[in-house]
Amino acid sequence: REGIRFRHVAFRYPASEKWALGDFSLTVPAGKMVALVGPNGAGKSTVIKLLCRLYDPEAGQVELDGVDLRSIPLRELQDNITILFQEPVKYSAMVHENIGYGELGKMKDSAAVEVAARRAGADGFIERFPDRYDTLLGKWFEGGIDLSAGEWQRIALARAFLRQSPILILDEPTSSMDSWAEADWLGRLRGLAQGRTAILITHRFTTAMRADMIHVMENGGIVESGTHEELLRQG
Ligand code: ADP
Ligand code: ADP
Repeated sequence: REGIRFRHVAFRYPASEKWALGDFSLTVPAGKMVALVGPNGAGKSTVIKLLCRLYDPEAGQVELDGVDLRSIPLRELQDNITILFQEPVKYSAMVHENIGYGELGKMKDSAAVEVAARRAGADGFIERFPDRYDTLLGKWFEGGIDLSAGEWQRIALARAFLRQSPILILDEPTSSMDSWAEADWLGRLRGLAQGRTAILITHRFTTAMRADMIHVMENGGIVESGTHEELLRQG
């Protein structure tokens, strides 16, 4: 397992003149966590989109364990990647069902759901039924108890625990949290990332410093790299 590699990747969005990534190279060694930080528009999300093959590069290539992504079947690639989004997907269903459905609509067995819920800190409300509008059925489910933003995030985290994919993408996983919630989450995220190859996108230094390596991005390229100690020393 060699991990993820971007080799001299150049990419412009369709109908855009601007290079979202230009001669971009990045290695995420297998089993390590790499953080991408930098201002809005730097190209962080674009890296993720190319990794998931929402787009292909105009030049250069993206490799997974030495294999060009373009020669991996899309379904296989999707099964290899888990993304923990900032904004969780919400189903109008009991919490344990919300966890079990996952992104691909597969129902997982309930023992596995319980373990994932416990690891995510969602086991205290697993039988709860959120009161919300179901866009699929086109009606309100009433008589439930609303879940807080933090609880929904725990559900999304449990879903990520349930998936056994070797690659993990954390997209601003702690962005709206106060520092106490962040501290709790960083412990859980470390458990989630254990043994996986992970890319962490974050604006927070206290979150980024948990990564094995931090890359600072600007204008579609990496302008600085190092461990958090190295970056602090350089100022
Ligand atoms: P970040 O995630 O670091 O905020 P992005 O990867 O979203 O940065 O953006 C990189 C560059 O690509 C920016 O110049 C942005 O305006 C541009 N961009 C992002 N998404 C699109 C899109 N769908 N169409 C055109 N340009 C885009
Ligand atoms: P309250 O702060 O009133 O307890 P929550 O239900 O959102 O409201 O918080 C419950 C727990 O969830 C908190 O103790 C904290 O550890 C965690 N938490 C709070 N906010 C967030 C958040 N934005 N994302 C994830 N977890 C959170």
